[in-house]
Amino acid sequence: MTLKIDWATLGKETTLMLSELIQRDTTNPPGNEYKAIEYLQQKLAHEGIASEIFEKERRRSNLIARLPGKRPGKKLLLLSHLDVVPVPDPQRWKYPPFSGAIAEGYVWGRGALDMKNITAIHFSVFTLFKRANLDFAGELIFAATADEEKGSNYGAEWLAQTYPEQLRADWCLTEGGGMPLQIGPKTFYTIESVEKGLWWLKVRVKGTSGHGSLPHPDNALTKAAHIIDRVSHHTFPKKIAPAVREFIVKAGEALGPEIKKIALMLVDESCEGELPPLPENSPISATLLNALVRTTISPTMIRAGVKENVIPDSCEFVLDCRLVPGDTQQKVRETLLELADRYKNEIEIETIQSHDVSESPIDDPFYALIESTVKEELPGVETIPIMLTGATDSRFVRELGAKSYGFCPLSTKMSLADREKLIHSDNERVDIESLELGVRVLSKIALKALEARL
Ligand SMILES: [Zn+2]
Repeated sequence: MTLKIDWATLGKETTLMLSELIQRDTTNPPGNEYKAIEYLQQKLAHEGIASEIFEKERRRSNLIARLPGKRPGKKLLLLSHLDVVPVPDPQRWKYPPFSGAIAEGYVWGRGALDMKNITAIHFSVFTLFKRANLDFAGELIFAATADEEKGSNYGAEWLAQTYPEQLRADWCLTEGGGMPLQIGPKTFYTIESVEKGLWWLKVRVKGTSGHGSLPHPDNALTKAAHIIDRVSHHTFPKKIAPAVREFIVKAGEALGPEIKKIALMLVDESCEGELPPLPENSPISATLLNALVRTTISPTMIRAGVKENVIPDSCEFVLDCRLVPGDTQQKVRETLLELADRYKNEIEIETIQSHDVSESPIDDPFYALIESTVKEELPGVETIPIMLTGATDSRFVRELGAKSYGFCPLSTKMSLADREKLIHSDNERVDIESLELGVRVLSKIALKALEARL
């Protein structure tokens, strides 16, 4: 490698940029992402990079900047969102949540982990390509979007619908992975490659009203209770996505031969029997494990009745259904009707919100490139694919054809448990080491993916 890169300076610039991004309050609602977007546009202009702003509504800004290579090749998209979740009580913070304080080895503030840290890292990777005037193939795209925390209607979803060409890429790096996960004696870095589908639905049960002092069997509330009880006790058959299979098998292997045996039973779809309890050092809970291997439904809301002595003639309840790859809404609907049992002709099902499963393959060359770069940069460490039970903006770029992976490595100073405690919570912060590591590892992935001649 002839190109000399000053990683320490780039790390410091990233740290400062994160602090400045946090100082621009982009709490969603209302969003106001323009504050951070205008700042980014200025910083890009300072590097001699033009960028374009896209807005469905004023103040809900999205920014895209592109660096075309000198040769044909793959398009790599660096995708992050700039909105952050609200701060319920700033008094509980050690440093004010929009101070961007750099103290005790951390950058503090709302968005430090989700995900202005990654925006700052992506920016540094992007400017590195520009400053070094590299000869590379394809195109590097920097996208910072609005509204991820409230469904992306003003952000990636809208951009993908309105300006698909702006977001279209072969490969994408975004949030969702890069957390160090200690399993037995081994450290793994997670790579998010698949997200469960979502179906929020309202079930309306009809009945006959009457006086509470004269009970009769056509009570909408008791009928709903019967259905809810059956739904809660239903277990969908296992359906194991390739990423989940690899996660369980690798984790089992790291925990020793006894646990590996259990892991192999777990990933066997024909084996539905009761399993021995998970070992104490299991990296995930039994609850999460269950959600990874099958479609699930949780009843979450219910409403019936107007008065103490009136039997309700209708009852509505809400189900939160999360689908694994291979299961469809249609199949879940059929199952629900079966579970509604003798009441199946007395219910209506209405969709509140839904999106499909979103998945990128783990046998893609870009995935392999992430894996090999992690091994080179972090000796002794391995990678492990994960599935999210929630969703990120990956799903919109996957729909446009990109292989998208959630990956930006955090240092081992922050464990998965640390991160989970801080994300969307008080005293959100990221350690400076993680910022330096992120810039270095993502830069190396991008340099290789775009075949940069160094
Ligand atoms: Zn996020």
